[in-house]
Amino acid sequence: MNSADANKEILFMSPVFKQAIWGGNKLGSKWGYEIPGDNTGECWAVSAHPNGDCAVRGGVYAGRTLSQLWAEEPQLFGNVQGDRFPLLVKIIDANDDLSIQVHPDDAYAGKNENGSFGKTECWYILDAPEGATLVIGHNAKDKAELEDMISNGRWDEFLREVPVKKGDFIQIDPGTVHAIKGGIQILETQQNSDITYRVYDYGRLQDGKPRELHIGKSIDVITVPAKSAQESVINVSADVKNTMNPLISCDYYRVWKLDVDGSMETAQEYPFLIMSVVEGDGLINGQPIKKGDHFILPSGFGKVQMQGRMELIASTITA
Ligand code: ZN
Repeated sequence: MNSADANKEILFMSPVFKQAIWGGNKLGSKWGYEIPGDNTGECWAVSAHPNGDCAVRGGVYAGRTLSQLWAEEPQLFGNVQGDRFPLLVKIIDANDDLSIQVHPDDAYAGKNENGSFGKTECWYILDAPEGATLVIGHNAKDKAELEDMISNGRWDEFLREVPVKKGDFIQIDPGTVHAIKGGIQILETQQNSDITYRVYDYGRLQDGKPRELHIGKSIDVITVPAKSAQESVINVSADVKNTMNPLISCDYYRVWKLDVDGSMETAQEYPFLIMSVVEGDGLINGQPIKKGDHFILPSGFGKVQMQGRMELIASTITA
């Protein structure tokens, strides 16, 4: 196979699953994945992180992990510079509330977390119960109040809850206090990082013990005052069918929503394009795809033809 053909290969990923005290069984019952147990919280769908490195499901690169392809076949990713694949896409099924958390930026993580990337992330709400809320941001007006609210456990005053519904899109910059609440499913697109500082865990126990909190680091990195709620939640207006609807472009990624109904055509002209089918099924360049499939279109892939009735989330890096 010459390299032009190799770059026509769709890289279908085998997800890696993570169990958590707040996890559920919907990744099995609603998504059809073979999950490791009833408390499965995360599907790492496109990941080259050492804590969950996805392998290619079939084709010429079958069995090779995304981190291997990044190192050994850089032409698939447009020869982009960088020592690791830059993005991570996951589905989260929160059966119970997640802990209240915050992520550092690149500078803080690089210095305090062995050279790790910081974490900017964004959420597309796949499903949410009637009246659902999320924690985004906080109500402390300055650093002194932040420290007082956290050290004295003034959580009701501190945490800012905002209403969300299916189809909302939320950008979480480093320094933003956030938590997903029970019943919500999201697709998360993020920097390739696993650095999370836990601020508060509702006093829960795991194996009889509270999970570790990271109060000092959290206070270091939390942005005060917080960005307004209106600036954090992006209401995706009625999507235009059969086109790439942009959701966000930030320093690390660009994300789109696609509603295919009938047929559409687009061009893969980015270093690589990640796609996740989050509803329905159809075809991409003649190959069947369905809800729960995640794949990468390599650099130079060119014309993309899709048919069917399906919803997808796509992402790439910001050039
Ligand atoms: Zn997070």
